[in-house]
Amino acid sequence: MKNLLKIHRSSGMHWVGDGFAVRSVFDYNGLGQHLSPFLLLDYGAPREFTPTKGRRGVGSHPHRGFETVTIAYQGEVSHRDSSGGGGTIKPGDVQWMTAAGGIVHEEFHSEEFSRKGGVMQMAQLWVNLPARDKMSRPRYQPLTKENIPVANLPEGAGTVRVIAGSFGENVKGPALTFTPINLWDVNLRAGKSAELPFPDGHTSTFLVLKGEIETGGKTASEGDLVIFERAGSDAIVAAKSDAHLLVMDGKPIDEPIVGHGPFVMNTVDEIEQAFMDFHAGKMGVIK
Ligand code: MN
Repeated sequence: MKNLLKIHRSSGMHWVGDGFAVRSVFDYNGLGQHLSPFLLLDYGAPREFTPTKGRRGVGSHPHRGFETVTIAYQGEVSHRDSSGGGGTIKPGDVQWMTAAGGIVHEEFHSEEFSRKGGVMQMAQLWVNLPARDKMSRPRYQPLTKENIPVANLPEGAGTVRVIAGSFGENVKGPALTFTPINLWDVNLRAGKSAELPFPDGHTSTFLVLKGEIETGGKTASEGDLVIFERAGSDAIVAAKSDAHLLVMDGKPIDEPIVGHGPFVMNTVDEIEQAFMDFHAGKMGVIK
């Protein structure tokens, strides 16, 4: 079993553009230095938006050196990027965008969601790339709800949607990743418990999106990030109420992390180069 390392309670929220009110659960300048390959997690808890004729969100901006994984739980996020990728992420869908060598994109509420209004609940996870892949070609994986398999936990304890990696022997997620990653969207029923099959040596952590859980003798609730030690395999989580968890597990990338704004590289020189390349238009434009 993996021992519980700590429970991180984040506080406060900030706006990304005018569309996403998010809690910064961790980022690459702080805790993200210790959660490799995961760099940053922003979580937008359920929030009601009134109908508008405009579109809320964040306009054209670049990324280089990593991947952004956008998960829509409620509401719809539309995206366009300089590699020609684009689409609408609907409830249950996940967009796995590899910025790698450089991409420019925009992220807005969908037109339909903007017009009708409603509840938005989403998360965006930044996944680091190993140095050898940081300058590779951008890639865009739209993973729709229908293509994300669901594993049933034993004894009716709940369900696991496998976005990346695998859960158990037979259930494999659709996302292509550069390093070994398991990304699970877990629902646990009140009073039930589940064993999460974390590999030895991996960074293993989860964010509680809803409910209250117990693990390693400690209790965690909505907004808490539960972090396990890398040594050991598997962890047992018990739900005190119906719980919803975003579980992140991955093999650490043992390389320096130097980030500034939308770029995460290995050295300060590479960050300066990223700003120069972006300003020279080398990361492209949205057509
Ligand atoms: Mn972005």
